[in-house]
Amino acid sequence: MNLIFLGPPGAGKGTLAAKAVEILGLPHISTGAIFRSAIAAKSPLGLKVKAIIDAGKLVDDETTIELVKERLAQADAQKGYILDGFPRTIPQAEALAGFSAVNKVVNFDIPDTGVLERLGGRRVCRKCGHNFHIIFDKPKKDGVCDHCGGEVYTRDDDREEAVAKRLEVYRSQTAPLIDFYRNKGLLIDVDARPAVDEVVINFKKAMGV
Ligand code: AMP
Repeated sequence: MNLIFLGPPGAGKGTLAAKAVEILGLPHISTGAIFRSAIAAKSPLGLKVKAIIDAGKLVDDETTIELVKERLAQADAQKGYILDGFPRTIPQAEALAGFSAVNKVVNFDIPDTGVLERLGGRRVCRKCGHNFHIIFDKPKKDGVCDHCGGEVYTRDDDREEAVAKRLEVYRSQTAPLIDFYRNKGLLIDVDARPAVDEVVINFKKAMGV
């Protein structure tokens, strides 16, 4: 099963994807996480995208499409995948259709107020990418990941100015994908406002699993 997770920044796509990996047994492929690893490694890709990502803007379509095409060609993605954070533009969606069939698109629906609350408190493990929240889901030990012991930090693009930009970019460039996929009969809406356990239940119901 080839699945796409769609929704504004802070809708909980990454958190849900980690749960969906256990439920569906598919690899979680997050373009944002791939970019963050490249930045941490100071690779040529990381150096190219750091300033763009920190400002809350989108990496260019060509670079992103090539990255996803290569990732989906790897062995673990042949049984299916959960694609989180891609596509984010209509040209990306059109390119994806050229190299992979999409079976379902899960649209995580949440108003801007919910997004701001979540992003403001979000903390991420630098090593394994696990998401925490300073109120809803604190690590047991301050600043230390429960899962791998890595450093838990605030993403540069979760700062207020970058968040505003990311929401604007989402509305203008990514939200049109909702109708794009709805018109193809692939879209499933999931209410992303409740706490994560309830969203998991909504997700399973919507997927029929
Ligand atoms: P995310 O972790 O999905 O919130 O992504 C973090 C940042 O990575 C985004 O704000 C963009 O700057 C960049 N990014 C991730 N996925 C894409 C994409 N599909 N197209 C362009 N830029 C992306």
